[in-house]
Amino acid sequence: MKKNTALALISIFLFISCKGSSMEPVSSTEILLGTSCFITIYGMEKPSNADAALSAAFNSIDEMEHRLSMNISDSEISVINREGHGTLSPDSLDVLSRALGIANESAGRFDPTIGTLVSLWGIGSNGQHIPEDYEIESAVATVDYSALDLEGNTATLNKEGAQIDLGAIAKGHAADLAKRELLDAGVTSAIINLGGNVQLLGGKPDGSAWRIGIQDPRDSRGQYIAVLETEDTAVVTSGIYERYFEVDGVHYHHILDPDTGYPVWNGVESLTIVTSDSITADGLSTALFAMGREAALEYAAAHDNVDVIIVDDQSNVYLSEGIRDSFRMTDPDFHLIEE
Ligand code: FAD
Ligand code: MG
Repeated sequence: MKKNTALALISIFLFISCKGSSMEPVSSTEILLGTSCFITIYGMEKPSNADAALSAAFNSIDEMEHRLSMNISDSEISVINREGHGTLSPDSLDVLSRALGIANESAGRFDPTIGTLVSLWGIGSNGQHIPEDYEIESAVATVDYSALDLEGNTATLNKEGAQIDLGAIAKGHAADLAKRELLDAGVTSAIINLGGNVQLLGGKPDGSAWRIGIQDPRDSRGQYIAVLETEDTAVVTSGIYERYFEVDGVHYHHILDPDTGYPVWNGVESLTIVTSDSITADGLSTALFAMGREAALEYAAAHDNVDVIIVDDQSNVYLSEGIRDSFRMTDPDFHLIEE
């Protein structure tokens, strides 16, 4: 697949004022993981190390991409997809284990072996199209996370045609790796934004929380509908507006139902996860989107450290308990539903 820089949509907006900062913010942007990746450091023990810290953070993302990309022919994942089995480095093994854990928790609504179906639709690439029914049927038959076997440092795909695709989770892991590099370099305040996949390090330099805008899912021009105050969290959104095409008024977006083989059409237009680490936030954003509103809210209610913001096709907004006090609607066209 071609790197699609036009997809550098940032679904989350940050309102930043840096009163109290003892250093000028230092930023860098790179195109990695098929999207624009921004990192800004607002505070660190030795500000003269900021450039080195940014380089280390971007290197960790680049290194991970080379191991886990389905689009790089000699990545660990491409070898497994081509040969049916392959060796994983310890970090890659962790990501695949985590993906299988979320597949289990979501009863397969999230499935990391969905690669053949994702490639068939090609949503977000130049070849995006509506496949024939028989093609969808045969691609669906290849999706089965229970056929991905991890033993020692070896992964085996025990199903003909199954292909691993970590597009729903690995960007989150990249943000966690970048955060670790920044912490190791003494950074105390930073924002890592990988194509809208946001990881906050600490709070603002003045000690207050960051303010994050939640995007209007029907408006990719950057309108936000609500603001969340939070710090030291991952805030990750899965939405219908990130990668999609339309035919005869039907909106075909990139989160696919592993059972029907079509995009998930369940009334959810965007689902944002707020939690401590990005790999969890990214994996769950896709999983809970596919599970639907009620199951997503139940999941968040049962997990203390996971919060969710859901926007549906009726302009209704649903929130989990943990973030009610730090969330404020700003667009009168959307309605907060208190349950
Ligand atoms: P998310 O909701 O987090 O994920 C949706 C994506 O997950 C889909 O695009 C699909 O890939 C997959 N998916 C769909 N349905 C399901 C499901 N039910 N269960 C599990 N997974 C599902 N983009 C490019 O254009 N070119 C590249 O070269 C490229 N390289 C990448 C390399 C890596 C290592 C990673 C992690 C990403 C890369 N990407 C690339 C971007 C990737 O396609 C994005 O992750 C994608 O845009 C989805 O991210 P998201 O956060 O918007 O959506
Ligand atoms: Mg995701």
